[in-house]
Amino acid sequence: MRFPIQPAQTTQTMAFRNPSRPSLHRMVFALSIALAPLPAVAEEAFGQCLSELRREAPSRGVSTATFDAHTAALVPDMGVIALLDHQPEFRTPIWDYMAGLVDDERVADGLAMMEQWRDILRRIEGEFGVDAETVVAIWGVESNYGRTFGRRPVVSSLATLSCIGRRQSFFRGEFFTTLKILEEGHIDPDALVGSWAGAFGHTQFMPSTFGRIAVDFDGDGRRDLMGSVPDALASTANYLKQSGWRTGQPWGFEVRLPRGLDTSQAGRRNKQPLSAWVTADVRHVDGSPIQPSATPAGLLLPAGPQGPAFLVLRNFDALFSYNAAESYALAIAHLSDRLRGKEPFVAAWPTDDPGLSRAERREIQTLLIERGYDIGEVDGIIGANTRAAIAELQPGLGLDADGRAGQKLLEALRAGR
Ligand code: CA
Repeated sequence: MRFPIQPAQTTQTMAFRNPSRPSLHRMVFALSIALAPLPAVAEEAFGQCLSELRREAPSRGVSTATFDAHTAALVPDMGVIALLDHQPEFRTPIWDYMAGLVDDERVADGLAMMEQWRDILRRIEGEFGVDAETVVAIWGVESNYGRTFGRRPVVSSLATLSCIGRRQSFFRGEFFTTLKILEEGHIDPDALVGSWAGAFGHTQFMPSTFGRIAVDFDGDGRRDLMGSVPDALASTANYLKQSGWRTGQPWGFEVRLPRGLDTSQAGRRNKQPLSAWVTADVRHVDGSPIQPSATPAGLLLPAGPQGPAFLVLRNFDALFSYNAAESYALAIAHLSDRLRGKEPFVAAWPTDDPGLSRAERREIQTLLIERGYDIGEVDGIIGANTRAAIAELQPGLGLDADGRAGQKLLEALRAGR
């Protein structure tokens, strides 16, 4: 889950364009500024802002004692301000985004988690009406099944965002809600780390979402989204239920379009009854007919008319509400289908250079290290260092210097080993 007011996100705008090499350098430069020590005057202004927040705390339902306990010795984390303002130069193509999020590894891990938490997931489905595969898919994408919660202390991030940069009033609400969560003893304060914007836990709830949605499912009296898998998964199911989840209805399905279909009416929001799509000769992707009904469905073309096509129903919108990006909702939907034993998409993405799984990304990183590039640890995450190394290598391999890790690069590196 991302906080809801963010502008351009790498995952939100999937139109691919080649980044220029200088942009990589600009990005590294911007990050090095963000990591420089804070001037004394800025530190003083932050201290004054904290004093203001302290005076405001009681009217926000937070005791001064709690405020003091969690804000002593707090210094601003300018890294979060850099991330707040960061406009990514590198737009991730949807085939890269999907290949990294829905790979065989995440499917296998998800199946193991469904086995391990089977009884809890069955109870969650009974109470909230959301199936295990969907809940586990969100868990897998948000934190890799509890392995990556984010590294930033939430109180520190939100205090910084409350005092510096744009949207301070929004973040003040999140900041005070976080202190309330700690005051009520739901979460171990030392364990409360998360994303730069303050999303935390197995399924990355924002604090305000916690306030509205989180439930205690293991019955210990605490709503512990960091330390309790049952609490986190039940809260996620509750989120979808509150977002209008229709029990038993699929998110949608891949379709085959008839030749010459007017796709100007495509769009998740532009729903028409399934029977209208049947009349237009839209079929299941295997060519079998769709059962006509009044159920509203929108035509989703994530990479335009030449790529995979989907009819999406109401539950796709519930997934979208979790993190406002259609690519995100499609990743959750597809991973849930893979956990149900379904196959990868039938239609290919419109590219001659498909994306890579995390295993393949780790292989690329290993091959870069073998060639002497200092790219940090092999983690399967193609960050700025890895992209810069790739951009430097690509011309010598006969590839465009765009810094992207795709199948062509992997093959070229393997061949040159
Ligand atoms: Ca609990």
